[in-house]
Formats: sequence, structure tokens, C-alpha cells
Amino acid sequence: MKYPYSFDPKKRRTAKIYTMTKIMNGLINGFAVPVVFLTAFLYFGGSNYLASIMPEGWLAVPLYTIFFLIILSLVHLPLRFYSSFVYEHKHSLSTQTLGGWAKDYAKSSFLSYAFSLVAITGVYYLMSSYELWWLWAGMIYIAMVAVLEYLSPIFILPLFYKLQPLKDKKYKNKILKICRNLGAKGINSVLIANESQRSVKANALFTGFGNTKRIVLFDTLMNNFTKDEIDTVIGHEVGHYLNHDILKGFLLEAIAIFPVLYLTDIILKIFAPVLGFDPYSIASLPLFMLTYTLINFVLMPFSSFFSRRMETDADLFALNHIRKPVAQISTEKRLADNALHDHEPPRWAELLMYSHPAAGRRIKLAEDWMKKKRK
Ligand SMILES: [Zn+2]
Repeated sequence: MKYPYSFDPKKRRTAKIYTMTKIMNGLINGFAVPVVFLTAFLYFGGSNYLASIMPEGWLAVPLYTIFFLIILSLVHLPLRFYSSFVYEHKHSLSTQTLGGWAKDYAKSSFLSYAFSLVAITGVYYLMSSYELWWLWAGMIYIAMVAVLEYLSPIFILPLFYKLQPLKDKKYKNKILKICRNLGAKGINSVLIANESQRSVKANALFTGFGNTKRIVLFDTLMNNFTKDEIDTVIGHEVGHYLNHDILKGFLLEAIAIFPVLYLTDIILKIFAPVLGFDPYSIASLPLFMLTYTLINFVLMPFSSFFSRRMETDADLFALNHIRKPVAQISTEKRLADNALHDHEPPRWAELLMYSHPAAGRRIKLAEDWMKKKRK
């Protein structure tokens, strides 16, 4: 294994095109497509029609929701398939078969349908019963997010990955020792996820709440990175753990949900009469989603900013405690080449939607840290 790793110039050129295509795809399928579709669906009376053919009574809301979610996912499907399967294979980043992709798609769709069905039925029930529905909905939303975060490592992650304890006992103990020495006492298992059956991309994550907290390392990281490099990744993850970043992210979301729902309430009340439906009838669902999508888009730079700050702090933690800046730089370069990440993406894209600082910035952080130490 080449170490320390240096950038492959050919991959750097491809990374520019690849990253920009992914960014544009994200903006089109995550923002433009839903905004255009939802607006057209409302404007041309699609929502009124769909609501009118629903049966009377309690079934109307869940049935409308299911129909509408299916229509919405069909609208998203072509670009989603292109971006996550065709384009990934074009660049030899995916190792997934078409069947494997379809299975993942079915599972994630089912999960999001189930979650959305419960959430939307709940919201429209609250709307019909309480003046301050958004306050109640916000509180229930927070509880649901907490439960999902808690269940994620034990229920959701295993749906997509085969998770196995790290077999190499000596190495496992070494990793746990690093965690303990750094003060992360609550971590007692290191799990390996079989990402290699999906892609060549390496990653590690720290997930869970309370007693489900654990470190998950992708086999693509374990197999293609040196031990020094993996140490810096673990240092970074322990940094997240000790900085309580999962809790911080959760609290941010918990604070933001109330004004978002309140604003949605105001918009529903203003625009629903114009469009010919009651703001709290299920026909308003596309308007609800449109408002929610627009508000989230406006909030994206803020949440990305907070996320990037937490990532930088975790990088600094790794530098200060693992003290292997050369390995940390090598990791960044290897990760960027492996996943075809542009290490110097356009600034606007970084400010708008990057949850992590671009690799170029993370490398510079480590280089600056080294220079400071040398003085
Ligand atoms: Zn991180």
C-alpha cells in the first residue's frame, strides 16, 4: 500500500466532473424537481382531484398519503436511479448489482413510507383537533427522531449492512484502548459493515443514543487504509463522541422544528383558500411539502455550517490526540481519490450543502497544525 498517499492527478481531473454532476443532481432531484412537481400538482388541481376520490372518514388521510407518496417517488425515480446506480457504475464506484440496488431502494422506500405515513396521519389528526397543532407536532417529531436515532444502529443499519464485530482481537483491543485512553468510556464494540458489497467508498461512523452508541467502520476502510490512517479516523470519530455531536445535531433540529412548522401553518392558512381547499384538509399535503422543502432549502446553509464546524472540531481532536498529521493528510487524500471527491469544490456548493469541509480544507488544517507544532 502506497503510504503516505499522494493524489492521483488523473483521478483529480475526473473528481471535478464527478463531484459537480453529483451536486447538480442533488439540487435538481432534491429541490427543483419536487418544487416544480408540487407547484404544478397544486396549480392544475391534482391535489383537489386526488382528495375528492378518497373515501369519507378516517381512511382518507392515510390513503391519500400512500397514493401521493407513490406518485412522488415515481417522479424522483429516474434521476435517483441514474445518480445512484448508472453514474456510479460509469465511474466504477459501485460494486452493486441491479438486484442489490433494487433491494436497497425497496427497503429505504418502505422505511420512509412507513415513517411518513405515521407522521403525516399524525399531523393531520393534530391539525383537525388543536389550534396549536404545530406545537404538538414539533414535540412528537422530536420524540420520533430520538427513537429513530436510538434504534438506528440496532434496527435500521442492520437492514442495509451485515454488521460484524471486528474479528482481529488484538486490533480490536487496540482500537478500544485508543477510545478508552481518549476518555470515550461508553464505546465497547467495534463493528465492521460490509460496504464493499455496495461500493468502493470508505467511511466510518459513530452512531446511536445511550446504550446503543457504537463505532462502525466500513470494510472498505479496513481493507484499503493503513493502520495509522485508520487510527486518525477513529480519533475523529471519538472526537464526535466526546463533543456530543449527535446530541448537538439533535438539539439543533429540535429547536428548528417549531419555527419551521409555525411558518408552515401561516403559509397553509394564506394559500389554501386561494387553491380551493381547507388548510387542514389532506388536499393541502402538497402545499405542506412544498413549504417544508422551501424552508429547508433556506435553512440548509445554516445546518451545513454547523455540521462543518463539528467536523473541523473532530479533525482537530484527532490531530491533538492521535498526533499523526501525516497519516491524517494521507487519509484525506486516499478518501478523496477513492470516492472521487473534488478536494476543491466551488465555494458556493460548500457553503450551501457540504456537511463536511472539502478535503482540501481538511488537509490544510492538518498541515497548519504540523507547522504550528514545529515552531
Ligand atoms: Zn465526522
